[in-house]
Order: sequence, then structure tokens, then C-alpha cells
Amino acid sequence: MADAERVLIVGGGIAGLTLAAALHQQDLVVELVERNPTWHAVGAGFLIQANGMRVLHALGLGAAIEHAGAIVRRWDFCDEQGEVLCETDLEALWSDAGPCVGIERTKLQQVLRSGVAAVPCRLGTSITSLAQDNQRVSVIFSDSSAGEYDLVVGADGIFSAVRRLALSATSPTDLGAMNWRSIAPIRPGGLTTLQFLLGDGCFFGLCPVGEQRTYGFGYIMQPRSRDPLEGRLERLRNRFASFGGPVREYLASLERDDQVHCSAIEWVEVDEWYTGRVVLIGDAAHASSPLMGQGGCMAMEDACVLGETLRSAATVDGALSDYVSRRKPRTRWVQSQSIAAAESLRMSPSIRDAVLRERGDQMMQSRFGPLIPAP
Ligand SMILES: Cc1cc2nc3c(=O)[nH]c(=O)nc-3n(C[C@H](O)[C@H](O)[C@H](O)COP(=O)(O)OP(=O)(O)OC[C@H]3O[C@@H](n4cnc5c(N)ncnc54)[C@H](O)[C@@H]3O)c2cc1C
Repeated sequence: MADAERVLIVGGGIAGLTLAAALHQQDLVVELVERNPTWHAVGAGFLIQANGMRVLHALGLGAAIEHAGAIVRRWDFCDEQGEVLCETDLEALWSDAGPCVGIERTKLQQVLRSGVAAVPCRLGTSITSLAQDNQRVSVIFSDSSAGEYDLVVGADGIFSAVRRLALSATSPTDLGAMNWRSIAPIRPGGLTTLQFLLGDGCFFGLCPVGEQRTYGFGYIMQPRSRDPLEGRLERLRNRFASFGGPVREYLASLERDDQVHCSAIEWVEVDEWYTGRVVLIGDAAHASSPLMGQGGCMAMEDACVLGETLRSAATVDGALSDYVSRRKPRTRWVQSQSIAAAESLRMSPSIRDAVLRERGDQMMQSRFGPLIPAP
């Protein structure tokens, strides 16, 4: 066991909450600080693929997730009108790694929080400075309080303050794409599978989540722009007006602009993930384009592997070095494949559709195959 008994986790997103649950189960003394003053999950819905579910089941949270979400057994790539180009059987792909589950982000957060009920979490708190020697890290918080820890984990997302304070001035890179996410209270066309309807330089995805609801996400390759709240839903309907199948029914069932969350797509690549007793996990270390739907699952895997290496290594340095060497190849794979998938949206639709008809399922098997073995 590494000499890290007292751990500070900065950030209460997927990475931070999963790690807090894992370390608490290992009897470490864990504290978590979250910048938001209330628990607030941004971004509508989420697909937890089997490799993420494998982590959550190991933490005893898998059954609650399956109960709160919807098991997704297949995903289909379709043309703009909803005609299927290729389909992938997710149960066969992931074998016994676990099911894939569509879930609303608020429900995912509730389940993750249930796993950290005994961990002190300070909301509305950030960090303002970090200093370390060989033995510990001294932290000053935004409320002027201070603390000393054996290990500080930056789970504070793509714009990580921990990364900036301790490791690197690297800024996220803009991918040149925007997305619009929402939850509708229906299952358009009796949707049971995850569907991607592909247009010219854009797609619309639909994923079943719990309680007969659906997560919808529109994605367009376009420069970053501001989409004001007023009139956002009408503009979204217009942007995808040429789409058939279930997209029109989905968009018609939304009622308000504030149901639609809009953001630009960014990613970040950082060379060094740790220094001394400070380490990064999740998006802080390797935010990715969402085209593989793996960023959150990678964050969960990071948490699981860091827990394991802290348990098995003799020193903090050994644990962090093992963590990085186990995680980097896998997260780099996801980043490179996600960028390749995003670039394929620039292809002419007729060529892309022909390629997907001919070998779409095979391409998915090669893209996800390396993630099937446990990390
Ligand atoms: C459009 C889109 C769709 C996606 N879909 C999926 C999907 O279906 N499946 C999937 O696996 N992944 C998906 N992802 C990726 C996934 O959302 C991220 O990879 C995941 O949320 C990363 O979790 P995280 O905890 O590392 O970071 P975050 O979710 O960003 O959480 C960081 C937390 O830290 C807090 N914080 C920030 N700064 C500070 C600070 N200074 N002090 C204290 N707290 C701080 C934030 O408030 C936040 O709560 C998607 C991403 C996008 C953009």
C-alpha cells in the first residue's frame, strides 16, 4: 500500500465521485471539493458503455444505474432519413464486460453520490494554491481555509485548475464542432436502440434513458459560435429539419428553449499527468471529442486503476507512475479514434454511407475491441 492515507479530490464530476467511492472503500481518508455551490449535472444524457459499467458494478453501484437508466443492446448508424447503414450488437461486442446503459446525467450523479455518502464533500469550494514537498501537499482553498494531504487528485475537468497550478499551462483545443443536448419525455418511434442519423457534416443521436425518456444530441461540424437561449429550440428544429425517422418526432416533443444545452467541442492532451504527489484523472488529463462516447467511461476506469495502484504499489511515486503507464495508451487510443470519427463527418455522405454499409460493424469492432479487456 502506497503511503497515501489522506487524499484530496478536486472536482465532483464523474471522475472525482467514482474515485472518492473507490478510495473510501479502501479505507483511505478522502475529502472532495466541488466548485459548484449545488450538485448540478450539466449535459442531459449519457451512455455508460460496458467498460464504465464494469467499474460501477465493482463499486457496488451497477444495479442502481441499471435501475435508473435503460439497457441499450444495439447501436445503429443510419442515413439522414433513418435507413439503417450498419448495426452493432453491443452485448456481443462487449461480451461479459457488462451491459451498456443510457441514463440521464442527474440520475448518474445521484447514484455516484450514493457511493460517497460517507465522504466529506465541500460544495462551492475551489483551490487557489498548491505547494508540495516530498511528504505532503499544502492546499489553500477559495474560502481561505487550508489543508495538508498525502495526495491531491485533479478531477476538475477540461479546464483543470490543478493542472494549471501544478503541471502545465496547456489549454484545450477547439475541435470545430458544436453540440445540442436534451432529454425528451418520449421514445420516438418506440426507440429501443442507440441511433445515429448521419447528415452532411452533422449527425443526430438518440439514446433511450430510463422512464421511457430519450436523450437526443445534435452535432454539427462548424466553428464555435454562441447560440443564445432565446429561440434555441426553434433554431435546432430548423437545423435538423431535413432529418426524417425519429428525429422530427423527438424535436417536436421538446417544449422549451431551456431544455436544450449547447456547447462547443474541445479536447486536451497533456504530456505529464503527475508531479510529486499531485495527479490528474478524467477530462483534466485527457478530455476527448465525444464521438466514441467514452470520456466518462475513461474517467471511471482512471478512478478504478488509480485505486488499484495506490493499493498495490509501495510508494506514491510508484503508484502514480503505474497509473499513468496503464492509462495513457488506452486514453490516447480513445482520443485518436474519436478525432478520426469526427473527421469522417467531413466525408461526402454518399461515400461515407457506402463505407458504413460495407464494413461499418467491422469498423466498430476494431474501434472498441481494445477497450474490452479490463484496464
Ligand atoms: C457532447 C458530449 C457528450 C458526451 N457523451 C458521453 C457519453 O455518452 N459517454 C461517456 O462516457 N462520455 C461522454 N462524454 C464525455 C464526458 O462527459 C466527460 O468525459 C466526463 O464528464 C469527464 O468527467 P470528469 O469528472 O473528468 O470532468 P467533468 O465532468 O468536467 O467534472 C469536473 C468537475 O469538477 C468541478 N470543478 C471544475 N473546476 C474546479 C475547481 N477549480 N475546483 C473544484 N471543482 C472544480 C466541475 O464543476 C465538475 O463538477 C461526452 C462529452 C460531451 C462534450
